[in-house]
Order: sequence, then C-alpha cells, then structure tokens
Amino acid sequence: MRLKIIAGNWKMNKTNLEANELVRGLVSSLGDVDHPRVVLCPPFTALSEVAKMIKGGPFFLGAQNMYFKESGAYTGEIAPSMLLTIGVSYVILGHSERREYFFESDDIVNAKVKLALKTGLIPIVCVGEKLGDREKGKTEEVVGNQLDGSLQDLNSEEMKKTVIAYEPVWAIGTGKTATPEQAQEVHVFIRNRLKEAHGAVADTISILYGGSVNDENASSLLKQADIDGALVGGASLKVDQFTKIVKSA
Ligand code: PEP
Repeated sequence: MRLKIIAGNWKMNKTNLEANELVRGLVSSLGDVDHPRVVLCPPFTALSEVAKMIKGGPFFLGAQNMYFKESGAYTGEIAPSMLLTIGVSYVILGHSERREYFFESDDIVNAKVKLALKTGLIPIVCVGEKLGDREKGKTEEVVGNQLDGSLQDLNSEEMKKTVIAYEPVWAIGTGKTATPEQAQEVHVFIRNRLKEAHGAVADTISILYGGSVNDENASSLLKQADIDGALVGGASLKVDQFTKIVKSA
C-alpha cells in the first residue's frame, strides 16, 4: 500500500498573518483527517508560524527549497538542518519554476536530494516536460533524463524514502490539466524507470501528480492506479478548494 499524499505548494504567497488565517481554516476543516497525508509548504518566512499552528495535528510541514550545503558562507540560502529544527519534514526539490527561473540543473537537484536524505528530510522531487517536448513526442525522454539525473547514485533505501511529483510544465498554473489517462501513462513510465534501477522498491514510492489540480478534477486524477496523490499550487491557497481536494483522495 502506497502512502497517499496531498501537498500544498503555496509558492511566494502568504505573509505570516495570511498564513495564520489560511491554516486556521484548514485546521478547522481538516484537523481530524489523517488520510491522505496532508503536507503544507508555505514560504520560508511562514514555516515557524505554521509549525506552531499544526503541532499535535495530522498535518506535515514542507519547505519549497533548500541549499545543497550544510552551513557556511552562502548568503541568502537555507540549510536543511535549519528546516528540520523548526519541524519541517518534507522539501520540494527541482520544481519547474526553480529549474526555469533559477537555473537549477539535474546535478544541482541531485546534490539537494542527497543532502535532504542524509539530513532526514523527505524530498519531493519534481519532473515534467514542457509543451514543446510533449508535442515532439519527447515526454518520456525528458522525464526519464530528469529522473536519472536528479536521482543519480541514490540507493534503494534512499529511494524508498523519496517522493516523486510528475508536473507537466504546460499544466502548472495554466488551468490546463493532463487528462487522468495522460497522467497515468507518465506515472507508469516513471514507476517502470524506477523499477529498472531499484526493483520492487518502485512499487512503494508515492508518485504525485501536479498541474492545475482543483476540486473538480482531483478525484478523477486520484482514482488512477499509479497516481498516489497531488502537488497542488493555486488551489492550495483556498481553504474550501484544498479541503475538497484532500477529501476526494
Ligand atoms: C505547483 O506549483 O506545483 C503546481 C502544480 O501549481 P498549480 O496547481 O497552480 O498548477
């Protein structure tokens, strides 16, 4: 049985005051739900505030990024130990916005994934093709290369602790969602790729779908055999929408 996870990626949204309001709403609508696992990923500045508010409840805390060094002269960066000490369990790595706007290569993502695992954070590793790749029939090539590069040198024990998010770039924040069949097809491809390297462990890895998931499309996506949850951007900022998505899982 794979763990079902609904993670909310708030991106660069919500001041502490706004985060407080959002989490108060979520605690009241979902505070007694322990299945699926709910992971809230606020910006760095709101992590401590959210950590305090969700203490003792079923929600898990996630960060949206981290640096690949444990400490040192890296102005503006955040180390994994800093996240762990305030109660963060998960970290989103290799999101397409980081790859696109902050030039994160698979090698950088890989260094981050390895350090996250070494330190005790659970990485949510994002992969996904651009529209042009899909139109040229290159989805599997692109996603396969991202997987190989980002997960390079991980052993099966480390792989077992890792979460993958398939996020077609053309579906992120665009209102265009992959159909459940399109998503399932790529999830199967991802699982098979992991199976080639790690055998049966691949069947235990949660593979989330992300890309304009909302309260209307969530349930048909989450019914697919290899879709083990969702990484939700825009709809995670609204209590009613996010609640419906979690309840449909
Ligand atoms: C995301 O940020 O990972 C995402 C999938 O965003 P959205 O749900 O807004 O498309």
